[in-house]
Amino acid sequence: MIEVKHLTKRYGRRTAVDDVSFTVEDGCIYGLLGPNGAGKSTTMNIMTGFLSATEGEVRIDGHDIAEEPLEAKACIGYLPEQPPLYQDMTVEEYLLFVAELKRVRKKGDRRVAVNKACRRTGLVGMEKRLIRNLSKGYRQRVGIAAALLGAPRIIILDEPTVGLDPAQMIEIRALIHDLGRTHTVILSSHILSEVQTVCDRVLIIAGGKLVAQGTPEELAGKLAARGIISVTAQGTREAVLAAASGVEGLSDLRVTAEKSGEVSFTAVSTTGKDLRGALSLALAQAGCPVLSMNAGSMSLEDVFLQLTEHTGAPEQKEEA
Ligand code: ADP
Ligand code: MG
Repeated sequence: MIEVKHLTKRYGRRTAVDDVSFTVEDGCIYGLLGPNGAGKSTTMNIMTGFLSATEGEVRIDGHDIAEEPLEAKACIGYLPEQPPLYQDMTVEEYLLFVAELKRVRKKGDRRVAVNKACRRTGLVGMEKRLIRNLSKGYRQRVGIAAALLGAPRIIILDEPTVGLDPAQMIEIRALIHDLGRTHTVILSSHILSEVQTVCDRVLIIAGGKLVAQGTPEELAGKLAARGIISVTAQGTREAVLAAASGVEGLSDLRVTAEKSGEVSFTAVSTTGKDLRGALSLALAQAGCPVLSMNAGSMSLEDVFLQLTEHTGAPEQKEEA
């Protein structure tokens, strides 16, 4: 079991991870879901002892990663975002080397462990190939095989399907699903559908903060139950938004299109009430006739975008 408590990481004035707490139970596949720059890799690098936290703590099976790094790290196999694969080694040479790094002391034991990891990750027959000649999908398998060496109970995979073609993605997802039968797995991804299909539990992270967590079904149910209303009205942007924002229970106004005197926007009803009547009345009273209005429930995709978009934007501005 992993406990992450009040984890914060600051780089100078930038806060990459902001007071994140969660618990990982044994035997599940967890997905850390968030857009680029959300803080996924930073969180994983701290959980695996590659980075130190500014504040907060991580306990792996009761071992504090900062105070008892050897005991804590022995529980974890990690596939970082950029796995350190040695291009000029064969698959077998590399995995034997990693097994040695992970203190599998006897040569015979290292062979057994490498063979087992190759079987598990579909690398049988590829052992003598140079890593540089492998496809990206097979390189990911080598990275996952390396993570399995040393018999850790927890496997942490940072964006394991990034850069793969669709067929390779499906294969790696199937492999992760299979690993979930024997290991606790934590993977990160910026792809909602991936996390939904592969993971038992989802942690949504945006702008360094944990913004939602639960099973995919819980998240879809709890959050997607919120109603979304799409409206096109006549008038200026200011007048339309002012009228709409006066309606009680309506939030997250978002302009989706604007052209010659017409404004289209979406808004979310957080109360579960149908607010179409109140909204069209408010717009009419403000002198903004409604041209069209539709109500629907939000998909998990909508919710994800909404939870993450406000936090993603400043990041891009800062870096530009
Ligand atoms: P993700 O993996 O979700 O894309 P990261 O954890 O890599 O996000 O990054 C989170 C934030 O921390 C980003 O704003 C990123 O620019 C910043 N960051 C990451 N590493 C460093 C670093 N070494 N120095 C300064 N800022 C960093
Ligand atoms: Mg990352």
